[in-house]
Amino acid sequence: SRVVTLARRPSGVPQPTDFSVEEVELPRLREGDVLVSNEWFSVDPSMRIRLHGGDSAYFASFAVGAPLEGWAVGRTVASEHPNFQVGDYVFHSAGWREHAVVAPTADAWTSPRVVDVSRSRPPQTYLGALGPSGLTSWAGLLHVAELREGDVVYVSAGAGAVGTLAVQIARLRGHRVIASAGSADKVRFLTDVLGADAAFSYRDGDLSDQLATHAPGGIDVYFDNVGGDHLDAALAHLNPGGRVALCGSISSYNETGASQPAVRNLFRAVEKGLTLRGFLARMFADRREEFQRDLHSWLESGSIRFPETIVRGLDAAPAAFTGLFSGQNLGKTLVQL
Ligand code: NDP
Repeated sequence: SRVVTLARRPSGVPQPTDFSVEEVELPRLREGDVLVSNEWFSVDPSMRIRLHGGDSAYFASFAVGAPLEGWAVGRTVASEHPNFQVGDYVFHSAGWREHAVVAPTADAWTSPRVVDVSRSRPPQTYLGALGPSGLTSWAGLLHVAELREGDVVYVSAGAGAVGTLAVQIARLRGHRVIASAGSADKVRFLTDVLGADAAFSYRDGDLSDQLATHAPGGIDVYFDNVGGDHLDAALAHLNPGGRVALCGSISSYNETGASQPAVRNLFRAVEKGLTLRGFLARMFADRREEFQRDLHSWLESGSIRFPETIVRGLDAAPAAFTGLFSGQNLGKTLVQL
């Protein structure tokens, strides 16, 4: 069976040649094990954090020479566990390989679980809208930024997996939504397809000037996927009492130490009594059912679109990942096996 391994730790922007595809022998199943034939796996910016050497408490570093990991769904082909039947679709964290041997653990966030594909959802939805990306957008807006009536919302990396959902959830709840992204096509998609009230490309000019144009009355909530200069611009335009959901900081993932972008406008948070709150989706694992209920109903009524960028085959996966840093994707990036 084939796996994608880390060939060397990238310095700066990762390249497809930092990875390799190798053939490995599958271990024999022991009691409690489940063999899954992966059909889809997720390609996520946070993997970049795990490519640096040195673990943090939240992001374990990938070992050079070892297979990568990531969210995946596939079908059970053999099971030594009573809760998993052959044919069941399983959501688990051992992606980036054709077959995974998984076993339930005490960690409710990462432990493999059977997913219900009977509600006519394609199984990969559990990696996106009904999965970690969706939970991130839903929890970030509703429980971290604590959306209130009348809030003007700004979402950066608005055309990505988390961003597309955050834009639509805020819009569905009746908010004025401003989004940014890195190309004219994405900007058009945000306004014409997803219904953002305004959108702009951060490549088209000064971020702060563009925010001033599109949010003349300021913003109340900033959903931060980018960090660095985007966070700085938002801090300048947040209204007193405004809230920031610190979701991600993709503009800094390729940097280490002194080259990390500095946040220059932090004192604005003092002046305006802003709340900046970081979070990880896993902190909301216990709200998964509530979140999936909301998302199911929005997906079923057609009120939410969930674009996907799909590449096929393990060999194409490294370039799909490195492409996240140049914005090659629209919506959720997935590998189909
Ligand atoms: P996306 O699908 O949004 O892909 C990343 C996008 O980021 C690219 O498409 C690109 O779009 C944009 N981008 C890349 N580099 C830069 C840059 N230097 N400046 C501005 N934009 C850039 O990924 P996700 O939706 O999966 O993730 C979005 C963010 O959310 C990431 O920061 C991620 O780490 C974070 N996240 C956090 C989670 C949590 O639990 N807190 C969970 C999941 C994700 P463009 O063309 O617009 O540049």
